[in-house]
Amino acid sequence: MTNHAFKNGDSREQPSLLPPRIDDYVGPDNPVRAIDSFVNALDLAKLGFRHAERGVGAGQPPYDPSDLLKLYLYGYINRIRSSRRLEREAGRNLELIWLLRNLKPGYRTIANFRKENWAALKAANRSFVLLMRELDLIGGTLVAVDGALFHGNASKGSIFTKGKLAKQIAELDREIDAYGKSLDANDTEEARQQSGGPEDGSKGDVGEKMKELMVRRERAQADLKELETSDKGQVSKTDPDARLLSKGDQTIAGYNVQSVVDDKHMLIVASEVVNRSDAGHLHMMAKAVKDALDVEALQVLADEGYYNSEDLKACEDDGITAYVPIHEGNRKLEKQGRFARKDFSYDASIDVYRCPAGELLHPTKKPWTNASGRVEVRYLSSKMSCDACPMRARCLGPKERTRSVFRWEHEAVLERHRARMASEDTSQLMRRRSAIVEHPFGTLKCRAGYQHFLVRGFDKVRGEWSLMALCYNFTRVLNILGFERFVACMAAKMLLTFEHALIVVLRRIRPVLRALTTQFISWSEISRLGAATAC
Ligand code: SF4
Repeated sequence: MTNHAFKNGDSREQPSLLPPRIDDYVGPDNPVRAIDSFVNALDLAKLGFRHAERGVGAGQPPYDPSDLLKLYLYGYINRIRSSRRLEREAGRNLELIWLLRNLKPGYRTIANFRKENWAALKAANRSFVLLMRELDLIGGTLVAVDGALFHGNASKGSIFTKGKLAKQIAELDREIDAYGKSLDANDTEEARQQSGGPEDGSKGDVGEKMKELMVRRERAQADLKELETSDKGQVSKTDPDARLLSKGDQTIAGYNVQSVVDDKHMLIVASEVVNRSDAGHLHMMAKAVKDALDVEALQVLADEGYYNSEDLKACEDDGITAYVPIHEGNRKLEKQGRFARKDFSYDASIDVYRCPAGELLHPTKKPWTNASGRVEVRYLSSKMSCDACPMRARCLGPKERTRSVFRWEHEAVLERHRARMASEDTSQLMRRRSAIVEHPFGTLKCRAGYQHFLVRGFDKVRGEWSLMALCYNFTRVLNILGFERFVACMAAKMLLTFEHALIVVLRRIRPVLRALTTQFISWSEISRLGAATAC
């Protein structure tokens, strides 16, 4: 039985509201202690963090990079990403006050740390992958790759394609024409009026507007010329590396984040930020994993967007078994009810293709190089067979007399891949693909709220993505291992880092020690000789 209608808080006037020790602010198994132990175990100088090797010097000392890294890890794990918000939280959030030992860096210092240390952040992310491997959290045999679109720090309106620029120039031309006519009308009106009459100032306004339109037109023309003379498909005004990218029915102005996820614990083992579609990134990403994990063989799962014959060949050459649904182009022939390329089977024993009517297509003599640089051999049906064929209407176009099939010089790679994709085990693997790779993206975008980048340009964006990926892996590893085991692992790692640092210091001072020893020996020799002479 209480005599209060509601629960009462403590009085603000009481002398002590918070625990007397900063260390009592956070519980013994608070995740912030895990962040602290993780960063303390890192060799920041080896990772390339700015000021990590700084000795005592004149002037105001900078912030220790380990403190700023702890601040960022805490912030990104807790959905606090902007430098101004991080500055505010450092002054009022008890966990951050504990983590930073009451240091309160300004927002410029915080923002500069993320900008200047983009390469070191990438290295920290990579080193965490190696740590995950050491802790046996990575299977290293089956991975899935996928791309996710993230908004850049740029609007769609700030990115121009050739078509968009041509449209803008045409629009400006129309406006210039309209203002030109108003200027002419003004001149006529002025000539009609007597000199000395009151001026309405409209001519000046129109002239200014004309000038502004001409400047905008020149700028658009220069951008169009830049696009026409380079291989860039788009020009971006705010963030030079952001691009208009589409996936499904979504179009964004930003980047495509490529991630490779290991199937054992859904951890991100390799990632890269690009500004193109997924096509052409399969081998690059799979090879990055193979090198990082130092494994002999690797199976990689990807969706249809990654189907690329050159990539499949490069994967096979590097011992990577790729599983990618076969992309049959736009299936134009199939839509027309005609036989497609897959309806022609290759007989390697006699080097011919067999058509649906059972007739043979023989190779023409010379291989040739197609527009994309692939060397191919053309297989041609016989005119006589096609003339008499009852399936002719389903095979040939109205003006065609014979049917051709082109075979890439490495077509055997694609045939092996096709056979692999047709097996029963593969369909089971492909069902696992989305479960593996969509776990991190779902977590990052929905739970952590990472939908966009706060910085601009490839370098800084890659640094920020490394922070995001590191925070995802960090949180997941903490959940898998549990707080105590994680902190114990970090303590062991810190001991190793300390031993390494000690060895480096000893190696550095060894020549000095040697010189001192030699000096000491010669001094003892001299004094011994002196004593002998005196005797
Ligand atoms: S038209 Fe020629 S290539 Fe086509 S199915 Fe008939 S025989 Fe074969």
